[in-house]
Amino acid sequence: MAQEAIINEDLSINSQWEEVCGQLKTEFGQTAFDSWLKPLSISSFNDGVLRIGAPTAFMKNWVITHYSDRIHRIWERKNPDIKTIQVVVQSMYNSPEATGTQLSFRGGDDSLTKRIKISPTPQKMYEVANNFGGADALASKLNPAYTFENFVVGKTNEFAYAAARKVAESKSVSFNPLFLYSGVGLGKTHLMHAVAQHIKQCDPERTVVYISAEQFLYKFVNALRYKDTDAFKEQFRSVDVLMIDDVQFLANKTKTQDEFFYTFNSLIESGKQIILSADKSPNDLDGIENRLKSRLNSGLVADIMPADFDLRLGILYKKAEQLGITLPENVAEFLAQKISSSIRELEGSLKRIAAHSMLLSGHEITLDMTQDVLKDMLRSIDRKTTIDEIQKKVAEYFNISVKEMQSSRRARNVARPRQIAMYLAKQLTSRSLPEIGRKFDRDHTTVMHAVRKVEELVLEDASMAESVEALRRTLE
Ligand code: ADP
Ligand code: MG
Repeated sequence: MAQEAIINEDLSINSQWEEVCGQLKTEFGQTAFDSWLKPLSISSFNDGVLRIGAPTAFMKNWVITHYSDRIHRIWERKNPDIKTIQVVVQSMYNSPEATGTQLSFRGGDDSLTKRIKISPTPQKMYEVANNFGGADALASKLNPAYTFENFVVGKTNEFAYAAARKVAESKSVSFNPLFLYSGVGLGKTHLMHAVAQHIKQCDPERTVVYISAEQFLYKFVNALRYKDTDAFKEQFRSVDVLMIDDVQFLANKTKTQDEFFYTFNSLIESGKQIILSADKSPNDLDGIENRLKSRLNSGLVADIMPADFDLRLGILYKKAEQLGITLPENVAEFLAQKISSSIRELEGSLKRIAAHSMLLSGHEITLDMTQDVLKDMLRSIDRKTTIDEIQKKVAEYFNISVKEMQSSRRARNVARPRQIAMYLAKQLTSRSLPEIGRKFDRDHTTVMHAVRKVEELVLEDASMAESVEALRRTLE
């Protein structure tokens, strides 16, 4: 069958890619491989043209200039059918293990056409006959503030947002399961509550249950204790949409995982929607059985990356509005600049400032006041990064040595990383320009020039901005 042939071909291309990757890793080293080659994935193979997707334009260009010859050379030997290799921009939201239909997906930004893979979902929808309650006893409370309207969308979360919205608005099952993952405080719980509240509002007939994995575990253990597992299972039968938050909690809880696995299968079989969240992708979850992992992978996997500067700024203004305070631009920018790891922390700092200005009534929010109120927090952020660390990380990222970075060489592939490192040193540490300069064997005017240059580049080139952001995140 033609389709089978295509699938087989796909499989062999993908396994060849794995072999090519193995070789590239040996040749270029783990760090360079992780920074530049690991994020690549096979996009398509037609008429001798193989397309490899890179997540950003900056990465694409870097791969083309530094690695494409090698990739081509290695692959030529493995598969003579490949005549041309193209590196294209393609976001990296598809999980490597997912198989099935490929879809194109457009977010708000047209240049960002994302490819997602979803598995064939059970077409059969069973009628939900048993609606005898029980589900409410299962569900945890929802936070009324966690709605779609209150969720600020940016580049780093737009995909997860779109997927959640799609699930909330579909009458039938769309991606099953929808698996959201991110670091802490980046909006997973917010999105899940938003889905639940949207469905409850628009379609009160449908039963939605949101529960944390911790609660799930607790209830299951109780059911075991009281030999009441049948009743526990029964509760799920009336559920149309089941959401379990923070499934990493089930790590190493073999019995609960088994139970979860059966519940999961039976819900999927009867056409119920499942949404899960965790702090890592299914593949990276430790202590979760393989068969469960592959189940978690079988629908749509969407990650939320740490918010970039613009999104942090947008969220600050939105939350300030909700708190009823006016946030001066310089304060907002200062906070968005300094606090980048979690939205929860960003929100926490804003609340502290708001409380201060309200308690000491008449106290305007100013930059001085902000720095004073948050001084402990800011000090701990400042302490974290040193110039040495910045040089090391940036050098690793661009696959040059720290020696080269400090050398007098002016070749672009050394000079640009050097400028980025200077820029980050200025941003992430409280060192002065001459102090930074000394670390690079340069004077302060060179550092100033570098800072300006990178500021310009970041504005002009979105993918450059993303690389700088990525480095900033690893450093923080
Ligand atoms: P997670 O579950 O990923 O740890 P949460 O959903 O609890 O994170 O989010 C932490 C806090 O940050 C919540 O108060 C949430 O409202 C807020 N938050 C996260 N992302 C956004 C966003 N994009 N827009 C508005 N608020 C957000
Ligand atoms: Mg959460």
